[in-house]
Formats: sequence, structure tokens, C-alpha cells
Amino acid sequence: IKPFLEKLYSLVVPSYELKNIRLTLECKNDFEVEADPTRLEQIILNLLDNALKYSKENGQVILQAFQNEHKTIIKVIDAGIGIAQEEANRIFEKLYRVEKSRSREFGGSGLGLAIVKELVDAHDGTIHVESELGKGSTFTISI
Ligand code: ATP
Ligand code: MG
Repeated sequence: IKPFLEKLYSLVVPSYELKNIRLTLECKNDFEVEADPTRLEQIILNLLDNALKYSKENGQVILQAFQNEHKTIIKVIDAGIGIAQEEANRIFEKLYRVEKSRSREFGGSGLGLAIVKELVDAHDGTIHVESELGKGSTFTISI
């Protein structure tokens, strides 16, 4: 997992730097993960793309990976604009985007998380979000 995440980290860090957002990789122990590497990459890049897009300048994002019993836990933690509680369970739906004004401001199709959800499901995994409006969001994948 570690070299894999380090590769993704160096792939996205230039776009993070453009917005002055600090990306930190937290992965203390290296371990093996049973997953389709192309799909896992797609999952994480989508979450990192959102974390960047919905963060304010000078923000901070953490990409974290660890093992919990027999599961691999991957977290993307941002301190961005957050998602209201009543919307949080809808963002994994196809084409769902939080409020129209926001969508115009940020661009995008509202497909990213629907694809992420399908890919996580295909690994028999789970994804959930904890978020507070104006404070930030944490997306957690367990596979
Ligand atoms: P794209 O298809 O380009 O990914 P998108 O980013 O709008 O478009 P999703 O990635 O599916 O679509 O996200 C759905 C909605 O959930 C977004 O429009 C956004 O409002 C909200 N959202 C997703 N991630 C975050 C986040 N990290 N912080 C705040 N809001 C988020
Ligand atoms: Mg997206």
C-alpha cells in the first residue's frame, strides 16, 4: 500500500500546491491489500480530487491508510466546505450535486462519488462520509 499511495500522492500534489493546500500522507505500516490496483487508484484519485475542489485556499488534506483487523481502512480528511447532514446520504447517487449555486461555482458532473461507490461495492467494501457544513469532511473506505 505504501509505495502505491506515495505514487498517487506525487501525482496529485502539484495541483494541491497550486491552491496552496497541504496534502499529508499518513501510512505508518506498510501492508498488502487485495484489490484491483487500477480501480483502487481511481477511487482514491476521485476522493482526492473532491477534497481539493471543496477545500478553501491554505487548507489541509490528509490521506491516511491503516489496517483494522482484516480490513484496510483508507481515509481522506479535508477541512473544506463540508456537506449538510440531509445531503450527506445522497452524494453517492448518480448526478447528485449539492445545491445548484455550489455546482456552478465548482463545476463537475456529479458522477465521481457514484463511480467510487460502485467500485468500492465491487470490492465488497464500504464507504461512508462524516461531514459538518463549513468544517470539513472525512470519507472512509473499508475493504
Ligand atoms: P465530478 O463528477 O466531477 O466528480 P462532483 O465532484 O460534483 O463532479 P461527486 O464527486 O460525485 O461530483 O460529488 C457529489 C457532490 O458531493 C459534489 O457536487 C459536492 O457538492 C459534494 N462533495 C463531494 N465531496 C465533497 C467534499 N470533500 N467536501 C464537500 N462536498 C463534497
Ligand atoms: Mg467529484
